[in-house]
Amino acid sequence: MRRIIISEEIILKEIEDNREEFITFLQSLIQTNSYNPPGNEKNVAVKIRNYLKDVDIDAEIFEYDENRANLIATLNDDFEHKNLLFNGHMDVVPPGSEEDWKYPPLSAYIKRNKYMYGRGTTDMKGGLAAMVCTMKVLKKLKIALKGNLLLNAVADEEMGGTGTEWSVKNPLKSKNIDFTIIGEPTALKPLPIAIMVGERGRMVVKVTTNGISTHASWPFMGKNAIYIMSDIIQKLNQLDGYIPSVEPPLSIEKLKQLVSQSFPSYEVFEKIYNEQVMLQNVLMALTRFTKSLTIIKAGVKDNVVPDKCEAYIDFRLLPGQKGESIIDALKKVVEQDLHYHIRNEGNGKKSETCVDLEIVQVSEPSYWKDWESSKDLKVLQSIINEVFGVKTFIMIYPASADAHYLRNSGFCEKTILFGPGSGSTAHSIDENIEICDFINAIKVYSLFAYRFLQ
Ligand SMILES: [Zn+2]
Repeated sequence: MRRIIISEEIILKEIEDNREEFITFLQSLIQTNSYNPPGNEKNVAVKIRNYLKDVDIDAEIFEYDENRANLIATLNDDFEHKNLLFNGHMDVVPPGSEEDWKYPPLSAYIKRNKYMYGRGTTDMKGGLAAMVCTMKVLKKLKIALKGNLLLNAVADEEMGGTGTEWSVKNPLKSKNIDFTIIGEPTALKPLPIAIMVGERGRMVVKVTTNGISTHASWPFMGKNAIYIMSDIIQKLNQLDGYIPSVEPPLSIEKLKQLVSQSFPSYEVFEKIYNEQVMLQNVLMALTRFTKSLTIIKAGVKDNVVPDKCEAYIDFRLLPGQKGESIIDALKKVVEQDLHYHIRNEGNGKKSETCVDLEIVQVSEPSYWKDWESSKDLKVLQSIINEVFGVKTFIMIYPASADAHYLRNSGFCEKTILFGPGSGSTAHSIDENIEICDFINAIKVYSLFAYRFLQ
């Protein structure tokens, strides 16, 4: 194939000229149901493969389970030079009660030519579609590139990230990836769009207290599981003392300084920071380990002393913290401080009162340590500033994402999150995206790939 050298203006013009086509493609992804659970990501993967087929880009679908799949597409067959990887998840969270939505969650309804509504518009079919469109633009223009652009569209991010983990360990294993962009939404409105170089981890632990059931008229014959749970909850703050302390990767002062770069001056930022409790809380959360008791369940009847009580605790971990240290700390609280017995698998008798600890979900924290010295990151920042007309800034992702599978395994530490859509609308009723942000994301991805692969 003949490859030609072109200017960045031609890339931008190509994107503007095909705006409507790209918007229609995003709509088709939103209209494809991939609520997880159960997933059904294969339907999305097929749409992506068919769309890329138009310009002869090969996309391979790796199927598993019932109608689930991961996909890898490559721009060309040059793996001898630099490799840039795009990663985006195809699953979305379920819509909740559909009657509460202004426009149905699968409608991809466009309002005033400005917003598109629907589940996944922001998290993250907007970012994923922008990545797919970028591949099409670069291929169609037959641009001379030195290196390759790979797209990994994955399943199951919303339930644990097995799609990215599997892809990194299998079809991508032999590839040397120099830089990865995950297209999660990184606008933190009213702040401008950010680039995320780290993420906190998440661990959900289910605590079950087992007591002895009896008639409520003679409670002393039993052992109330709610009271055992109540003892544990009251001691929960003692956990912090048992967990080895870790320095946050970015101190609150450093975070303030980074965010302030998107403001006209530090003084202006400081004034707004002092007024904005929400901003203060977000930055504070990024510098510490947190825990939230989120679910509690017990009781079968109002005259029965319950023999079982379940509680779920959501822990957020700083880079450097390990899930095992949380479990060890929980064991100390339950066994040493409260003298309850923790049942290990197989050795607990049914008649005794005991506590079960179960890790329900875990997503490791991760951080790209050397981001400050990266020229590539500076290039990306300057492209975002040009295209979005804002001053972007570096942050730690407040939620958890798939980046740890790439960073912590050594597969590609230079992994960042950048994508269209505001985090505040993700997972919520009436999720939507500003269409110009979606188009701008195609421009940023295309210009960055073009400069990165020179
Ligand atoms: Zn997401």
